[in-house]
Amino acid sequence: MRNYPPEPFRIKVVEPVKMTSQAEREEEIIRAGYNTFLIQSEQVYIDLLTDSGTTAMSDAQWGAMMQGDEAYAGSKNFYQLERAVQEVYGFKYVVPTHQGRGAENILSRIMIKPGDYVPGNMYFTTTRYHQEANGGKFVDVVIDEAHDSQFDHPFKGNIDIAKLEMLVAEVGAEKIPYICLATTVNLAGGQPVSMQNMREVKDFAAKHGIKIFQDATRCMENAYFIKKREPGYGNKSIKDIVREMMSYADGCTMSGKKDCLVNIGGFLALNDTDLYVKACELVVVFEGMPSYGGMAGRDMAAMARGIFEAIDYPYLEHRVEQVRYLGDRLIAAGIPIVLPVGGHAVYLDAKRFLPHLAQDEFPAQTLAAHLYIESGVRSMERGIISAGRDENGNHRYPKLELVRLTIPRRVYTYAHMDVVADAVIALYTKRETIRGLRFTYEAPSLRFFTARFELI
Ligand SMILES: *Cc1c(COP(=O)(O)O)cnc(C)c1O
Repeated sequence: MRNYPPEPFRIKVVEPVKMTSQAEREEEIIRAGYNTFLIQSEQVYIDLLTDSGTTAMSDAQWGAMMQGDEAYAGSKNFYQLERAVQEVYGFKYVVPTHQGRGAENILSRIMIKPGDYVPGNMYFTTTRYHQEANGGKFVDVVIDEAHDSQFDHPFKGNIDIAKLEMLVAEVGAEKIPYICLATTVNLAGGQPVSMQNMREVKDFAAKHGIKIFQDATRCMENAYFIKKREPGYGNKSIKDIVREMMSYADGCTMSGKKDCLVNIGGFLALNDTDLYVKACELVVVFEGMPSYGGMAGRDMAAMARGIFEAIDYPYLEHRVEQVRYLGDRLIAAGIPIVLPVGGHAVYLDAKRFLPHLAQDEFPAQTLAAHLYIESGVRSMERGIISAGRDENGNHRYPKLELVRLTIPRRVYTYAHMDVVADAVIALYTKRETIRGLRFTYEAPSLRFFTARFELI
């Protein structure tokens, strides 16, 4: 019996993928130095490296692309995008950017002074970078449960109000320009924030005169979890839920490459007129005119359309439940994964998958490489290699040593998910035979992108 929602689309265009042999994949992984970032995409059968910018656009989006108005100023596609954001998110002003980090750059520059603190429910790499580059200090205020890979909690992305209170008591509210509230929390595994928590954060922030900006990258997936899990929301539309979520914030940064269903683009949305004027001054310098901000007219047209497609319930249900389907198959086979399964990815717990490897034999990197050899499935290491070295040159040893299987939106079928699950299960049955890796090349920073390895 089928226990998953079927695809709410039919396939009009296909992109053939190469079916490689195990011998070909062994050759490719050696060429790539056992680093999945260095594998050529053409040699990949199912690409689960990321859900960012890997979405399949709809026929309506491709149709909109042909109606790009590439005027330098005042493109009609900007006004379409502005109306879509105003209607679905409910913010007054929209500043388009080339992707999410462009919006983070502008927001951080207009809001943060040296010596400020920016609390957030776990960090994201580029978000924290821009906060700290402007003299702010990121403070993690996510609930403790988010750091425990086995703790099953329906809203594991929630903010701990007691942690906010402690921060205010310690540094003073005037040193906190805004709270950065991510929906969902990427680095916790795509875990959602409850509406009740957003309301409590808003009450707290209002009391202390602190603003709230959402990192709304996966806000539609967050809204889906609220509809399914939070009392009182089962009969509300996704649009109403998103509008309510955003009503507790002063604005948001958005990576269109995730929940706007496009391959490139982003925006900053705001309600405050003074902040909008400042944002427009900066967007001209870093991105482009306030009516295109680093995007072509056609890209804004596709994003305007994608914003409406993303709040369509059958789309969202299929998207999130497809991820859960993969997670459920792995759980049923006894594979150690992060719980509960989040909105965009399933994370394998490599420490428990390969317990015979020490962490400095790189269990997650090893597992990602072997999954590719086994099946042509590409995944990403999120463990000791990504964590890098400390100021003394020693490895940082993160608690979590994970392999991320990130599902692109509308790209793969349930049969593809079965291929992934079968491959992971096959590897698990022969896990004792898997040897670890050692470096043959290591870059001084962001080593995970370019590092090369050999088998021990
Ligand atoms: C991807 C992402 C960003 C940055 O967006 P880009 O479009 O990649 O610049 C910010 N926050 C989160 C949580 C993300 O996943």
